[in-house]
Amino acid sequence: MNNASDPGNRDFAEELLMVIDSLAMTITQDKEEKRSLSYLTTLAPGAKHRSVPSVLSLEDIRRDMEDCQCCSLHAGRKNVVFGSGNPQARLVFVGEAPGADEDQQGLPFVGRAGQLLTKIIEAMGFKREDVYIANILKCRPPNNRNPLPAEIQVCEPFLVKQLRAISPEIICALGTFAAQTLLKREIPITVMRGKFYDYHGIALMPTYHPAYLLRNPSAKRQVWEDVQQIMKRLQARSGHNEQN
Ligand code: URA
Repeated sequence: MNNASDPGNRDFAEELLMVIDSLAMTITQDKEEKRSLSYLTTLAPGAKHRSVPSVLSLEDIRRDMEDCQCCSLHAGRKNVVFGSGNPQARLVFVGEAPGADEDQQGLPFVGRAGQLLTKIIEAMGFKREDVYIANILKCRPPNNRNPLPAEIQVCEPFLVKQLRAISPEIICALGTFAAQTLLKREIPITVMRGKFYDYHGIALMPTYHPAYLLRNPSAKRQVWEDVQQIMKRLQARSGHNEQN
């Protein structure tokens, strides 16, 4: 007969409760994880049929967000800066947020920093149209201030969907905000840059933001080293694909 007042049985019951607690925690974490990744696969708001493809096209995503009022930045914008380039790009560059020129034209990286990014892309042997360029935030923060955590939280899912639609081989994260937001790590860009990380199965290379290079031209050498690693990996993968 079990006797609850027996210390041996009490220990066993407590242990059992701890196991149940930890199981419940694992299930909750699992559900949280599924929920946090669910925006990768959920239907567009308003979509009625399960037969809708789980990966939205870039045009669907653009349409979904063209009137976005998820944060206060919508009030000051001229244009949503969605992203531009090849929808099947092997390489995607992710920056921080649009500046004045980008807001004016509705295109990413078209100001001074953008001209430098174009030079980097061309030095890699690509044209801008070959790659895809996007930002963490799609609307310009006033006076180019840093993105706020709440703005990143509501805007990042659009970028995640874009990355899911493009499914590139490599992402190049430009600067602290892009690298820290995508990798969910608060490591300085000086430490993060120059190494590949895993972003949901996609290789991600953090490097310095072109705006930083305008202020610190001597860092161009390191960016060149970082993008050479990207080029090597893309070439190696092309060779591998040709063989198979
Ligand atoms: N800086 C960014 O991070 N993105 C742009 O589109 C322009 C400047």
